[in-house]
Amino acid sequence: MADSYTIKMPQLSDTMTEGVVVSWEKNIGDKIERGDIVATVETDKAIMDVEVFREGYLSGPQASVDSTVAVGDPIAFLVASADEVQGADAQAPASEQGDASEVEPEAAAGTTDVPEGVSHTIKMPQLSDTMTEGLVVSWEKSVGDKIERGDIVATVETDKAVMDVEVFREGYLSGPISATDSTIAVGEAMAYLVDSADQVVEGEHTGSGGAAPVAETATAAAPAQRAKTSAPMPAVSSNVTPAPRPDNKQATPYARQLAASLHVNLNTLHGSGPDGVITADDVRHAQPIERPTEIGAQVPAHVMPEIQVPGHGREMTAMEKAVSHSMSASLTMPTFRVAINAKPGAIIKAAKAQGVSVTVAIAKACAVAMEKHPSINWAYQPVDKIVERDNIDIGMAVSADGGGLVVPVLRHCESRSLEELNESWGDLVGRARKRRLAPEEYANPTFMVSNMGMMGVSYFDAIPTPGTAAILAISAAGPEGMPLTITADHRVVNGAEVGMYLNTLKTAIEQPEEWMGPTGPAIPEGDWDYDVVVIGGGPGGEDCARDLAGHGIKVAMVNDAPFPGGECLWRGCIPSKAWRAAADRVRDRAHDAHLGVMGTNKAKLDWEALEATRRNVLETRGDMALKTDKGVKIDVIQGYALFESDHRLFIDTSANTDNPHARTPLGDGSDGRHVSFGCAVIATGAPPFIPPIPGAAEGVESGGVLTSDTVWGLEAVPKKLAVVGGGAIGVEMAQIFQDFGTKVTLFEAQDRILAEVEPEIAKHLTAILNDDPNLTIMTSTGLSSIKGKPGAMKLAYKDSDGKAHTQTVDYVIMATGKRPLLEPLQLDKAGIETENGVIKADARCRTNVPHIFAVGDVIGGLMLAHTAGQQGRVSAMTILGEDMQYDQDMDSGVIFSRPEAAFVGLSVEQAKAKGIDAVEVKMPMSIDAKAMITNETHGMIKIVADKATQRVIGVHYLADHADTLIGEGVMMVSGRMTLEQVANAIHPHPTQTEMFGEMARRLLSRLRRSKKK
Ligand SMILES: Cc1cc2nc3c(=O)[nH]c(=O)nc-3n(C[C@H](O)[C@H](O)[C@H](O)COP(=O)(O)OP(=O)(O)OC[C@H]3O[C@@H](n4cnc5c(N)ncnc54)[C@H](O)[C@@H]3O)c2cc1C
Repeated sequence: MADSYTIKMPQLSDTMTEGVVVSWEKNIGDKIERGDIVATVETDKAIMDVEVFREGYLSGPQASVDSTVAVGDPIAFLVASADEVQGADAQAPASEQGDASEVEPEAAAGTTDVPEGVSHTIKMPQLSDTMTEGLVVSWEKSVGDKIERGDIVATVETDKAVMDVEVFREGYLSGPISATDSTIAVGEAMAYLVDSADQVVEGEHTGSGGAAPVAETATAAAPAQRAKTSAPMPAVSSNVTPAPRPDNKQATPYARQLAASLHVNLNTLHGSGPDGVITADDVRHAQPIERPTEIGAQVPAHVMPEIQVPGHGREMTAMEKAVSHSMSASLTMPTFRVAINAKPGAIIKAAKAQGVSVTVAIAKACAVAMEKHPSINWAYQPVDKIVERDNIDIGMAVSADGGGLVVPVLRHCESRSLEELNESWGDLVGRARKRRLAPEEYANPTFMVSNMGMMGVSYFDAIPTPGTAAILAISAAGPEGMPLTITADHRVVNGAEVGMYLNTLKTAIEQPEEWMGPTGPAIPEGDWDYDVVVIGGGPGGEDCARDLAGHGIKVAMVNDAPFPGGECLWRGCIPSKAWRAAADRVRDRAHDAHLGVMGTNKAKLDWEALEATRRNVLETRGDMALKTDKGVKIDVIQGYALFESDHRLFIDTSANTDNPHARTPLGDGSDGRHVSFGCAVIATGAPPFIPPIPGAAEGVESGGVLTSDTVWGLEAVPKKLAVVGGGAIGVEMAQIFQDFGTKVTLFEAQDRILAEVEPEIAKHLTAILNDDPNLTIMTSTGLSSIKGKPGAMKLAYKDSDGKAHTQTVDYVIMATGKRPLLEPLQLDKAGIETENGVIKADARCRTNVPHIFAVGDVIGGLMLAHTAGQQGRVSAMTILGEDMQYDQDMDSGVIFSRPEAAFVGLSVEQAKAKGIDAVEVKMPMSIDAKAMITNETHGMIKIVADKATQRVIGVHYLADHADTLIGEGVMMVSGRMTLEQVANAIHPHPTQTEMFGEMARRLLSRLRRSKKK
C-alpha cells in the first residue's frame, strides 16, 4: 500500500458533511483511467458521481454500498499494480483504518416492524431547503413489486411541489409502507426494499408518530456518522445531451452532463480538477442551488415572537408554511420601492410575431437590462457578503391547479435565446401547474418577476425573497403605460441603480427590436385614414413614402410646399450646384491657357440667364417629382401637419401657396383637415439657424442678412460679401461668389472650417481657399455685431488675437447651421421626446413612440440629403418589419468647393476613437498624370484601413472631380472591401481611379513589411 492513493468521500456541495455510497461503478481489481467514475454517492442534494483523476487499480478496503462515510474519509484505494490489489474487506492502512472499518451496511438494522433481510430503507427525502416533512401523495409501486434502479416508487408533496421519490437500488418493495396522505418527517422510513419476494411484508403506518420509523432504529444501530439523515435530490437526468466541450479546457463527462442540465456555460468556469479539469463540483458552484452554510446555522427568521390570535386555526399546508416562512424571513431585508411606466405595445407585438410568450419576452428584457446594471441580480449573503453572479435565473410565479403559487425558475436568461427560454418556460409552467417540478427548477432564483397586470391589477408591489436583491411587480397598463415597480434590498442596490435599471428596462420593453431584431410590421391594427402618414416632402419624406407605396402601404405625404423636393431641391443642394456649375465655368476659363487655349479667359456672368436656368431646373424637377409621387400612389397633401395625439394629425392648409421657391410661412389653423394614422414619419427638415449675434435677427428682417432660405432672391452678384460660418454651406457660398468676382470674407468662430471633413483635408482646403484672390478665411474670429441695411452692412468682429475690427459689405450670408423648428409640430401631444433640439431617434429611425419615426435633418447628425433619403428608406423598412439600420460610419459627403472635399466612412482619428487600430495611405493629386494635364493638381486622396481586418473603412478626398471619384470609395466602404480586393481590381488607364489600386498595393506592402519587423 506504499504507493496507494486514497479515494475519499468528496464534498460535492457546500453543505455536504457525509455521503452514502449508492453504488460501485468499478469492481475491485479494475484498471482505472483518469476521469473514470468509480462510484455514485448520495449527498444531501442528489446522487452524484465520484470521479477519479488518477490511474491505477481499484483496491480495498472499500466502503460498502449504503454505508455513510464522512466527507474526506476513504471509500476505497488505488494501487499501482494489479498485484497490490486488496479485497473489499481488507484492513485499511493504519492511518485510515479506523474510519473505514466503521462503515457498515444499513441492512443490519432491525426493529419488530422492519422486514427480515431489508436491504434498503426508502426514506422521506429532503427535496428543498425548507422541507422538514412530506405528505405521501401516491404509491407508484405496490408492495411486492420488483424495483429496478431509478424506479419511481412514490410521489410526495413537499412545501413547494409534488415530487417523485426515486430509488437507486434493486429489490422488492416491502412494508410497512407509509399510508397515502400520511405526513412523514424528512429522513424517516416510508417503505423498505428486501432482497427476495418471500421477505416482503405487508402493512402500513400513518406517518411520523405512527409505527416506529425504521430510519431512527437503523440510525441507532449504525455507526456515528449516520446520525444525520441524508437528503437526496433527484439526479440530473441521464438523457440530457452533454454540454459542448469547453474551448481550450477539459471537463469531465459528468460535468458536461450536469452543465447541460443546469445550463452552465463551461467556458466561463475555472476547473479545480488536476490540470484545471472542470469537475461536476465546479459546475455546481457555478449554478449554486444550495444556500450558504452560514444561513443554516442561524435561527430561522420566521421563528419570531408571534401574536396570539383567537379561534381554532387549521394546520397550514406544506406550501402555505413554506411561503409563510420565506416571507417572514424577507422581513430581515431593508427594502425600498421604485416605479416607472412602460408602454407594453411593442413587446406584446414583438412577442406575438416571434411566437413566444409575453412573460418570457419580459423576462428576457429584464436580463437584457441587467447586462448594463448587473447589481440588480446580486444578493446579500449573511453575514456582510454580496454574492455577485453572472447567471440570471428569473423566478416567475405560476398558479398551481387547486390553488397556491409555484415559482418556476427560468435559468440562464442572459445567455439563452428567446426561443429556448420560451420552450423551457412552456415545459416548466405545464409541470408547475401540476406541482411537479424538480428542486433545481424552482430553487434559488437570482431575480423575480410577479405579473398581476394579467389580472387587471392597477398597482401593487411585491416582496423579494432572501437570496435575491429585487423583485419586479408588473401591473396592468393604463393611459400612462404599464407600471413596473421594483422592490429592492438596499444592502445590495441603491435607489439610483434601480432607477437606472428601470429606465433601461423600459427601453428594452418599448423598443424590443434593439435586442430581438426586426419584430414584424410596425403598423398597429386600427381603422386609420392612412397606414402611414409621412410629414415633409424633402429627400427623407419622399424616399420613405415611395418605398412604402412600392410595398402596397396606404401612405399620405403631407408637405407644406406645392411641390415635393424640400430644402434640397428648392433652397439647397440643387440651386447651389447650379450656381457652382456657373462658377466652375468662370474659374476653368481662367486656366484654359495652360493647355494652349487662348481668348477664353474673359468670361462674363449673365446673372439673369443663370437664374432663369436655375429656376427652370428646380421647377422641372419639382413637377417631375410630384407626378412620380402621384403615379406611385402616394396621396400627396399640401399643408402643414401638427400632432393632435399619437394617432392623429391636423393638416393646416390656411397658409398654402403656389410659390415653391420660398419657404411657406406657418398658417393660423383657420383651414385644414384631421387625419388619423397607424404610423407617422416626421421628415420636416431643419431651417437655417440665426445665432444671437446682436443685429443678426434684425438683419434677416431687413434683408441685409441673407440665409440659405433667402439668398436665392439676390437680384445681382454683390460686390462685397461676408459669409458667417465655415460649414459646407458657408464654404460653398463663399467660393461661388469669389468665382463670380465678389470680394468675400468668411468668418468662422472655431479654429478650423468643415468640422465633418478629415482634419488634414480641411487644413489643406483652407490654405487653397485663401489663395483664391477674392476670398479670405478668418478662423477663431467672433462677430460682435451686425448693423446696416441691404447693400450697406457693417460687421464688428474680433480676430484670433482678440483685436477688434469692422468691415463693410453689401450683404451678410448667415450660414451658421440649421436647427429643426419643433414647437409648431406639437410633439408633446403625441409624447415624442426631443434631445438637444432635435427629435430623438435610434438607428432604425424610431422615436420613443414605437409607431412614430423621424428621419433627415430633424433628427440631427449629418444634415445631408442622401442621409435623409437613406434614413427615409430605413424607416420604411422598419415599418414593413424588415431589418435595416442607418450606419453613420458608412455615410459620405461632398463639399462642392474647388477642389472638392469629400469623405466616406471614418478618418484615422474617428476610427481610433472607436478603438479600431487604423492606418492610412495617401497620395497627392500632383503626381497624377490626368491632374497634371488639366492643371488640377491641388489636394490628395487617402484610404483608411483597419489593420486587423485590412478592410477599407474610410476614403477621404481633396480633389477636383471628387464628386465622381467618391463613388468608388463608397463601394469600398459599404462593400467592406479588403485592401487586397482593391489592389487586385483592374482600374482603367488613364483614369484617376488607378490611384485607388496603387494606394491599396502600397499600404499592403507597408503592412507586410512592418509585420516582418
Ligand atoms: C445651401 C444648401 C446647400 C446644400 N447642399 C447639399 C448638398 O450638396 N448635398 C447634400 O447632401 N445636402 C445638401 N444640403 C442639405 C440638404 O438640403 C438637407 O440635408 C436635406 O434637404 C434634408 O432633407 P429632409 O428631408 O430632412 O428635409 P427637407 O429637405 O428640409 O424637407 C422637409 C420638408 O418638409 C416641409 N415641412 C416642414 N414642416 C412641415 C410640416 N409640419 N408639415 C408639412 N410639411 C412640413 C418643409 O417645408 C420641407 O419641404 C444643402 C442645404 C443647403 C441649405
